[in-house]
Amino acid sequence: MPKFSQQSQLKLATCHPDLQIVCRALIKQYDFTVLEGFRAQAAQEAACARGASRLHWPHSAHNQQPSRAIDIAPYPLDWQDIRRFQEMIFRFDALAEYLRLKRKISSRFIYGGYWAGLRDWPHIEIQEETK
Ligand SMILES: [Zn+2]
Repeated sequence: MPKFSQQSQLKLATCHPDLQIVCRALIKQYDFTVLEGFRAQAAQEAACARGASRLHWPHSAHNQQPSRAIDIAPYPLDWQDIRRFQEMIFRFDALAEYLRLKRKISSRFIYGGYWAGLRDWPHIEIQEETK
């Protein structure tokens, strides 16, 4: 059974509890790595500078505590293999749906891989509450 590296666990611990619950369920069936959780100001500006984010501090969901966004990638990492990212998102979403039905989580998620324009495959973000 796959399990998280210590680096992944530390990053996961900075994320919203619902993201943690889905990720801990997903790692039991699919090997992936946590690239990023919470981003402090310097990390956010660095992400902007290298084109990994379009948002300046503190406007990214990665800048909230706990982080409302997480970046994950199939392990071992291969940025060219988009199908594995799609499979990972499909599995994440199916598990999230199941865990919502079981009332273990309440969040809904937005997937950066489905954004028009800049596709951000690793990015998963908690949707804002709509009232
Ligand atoms: Zn992200």
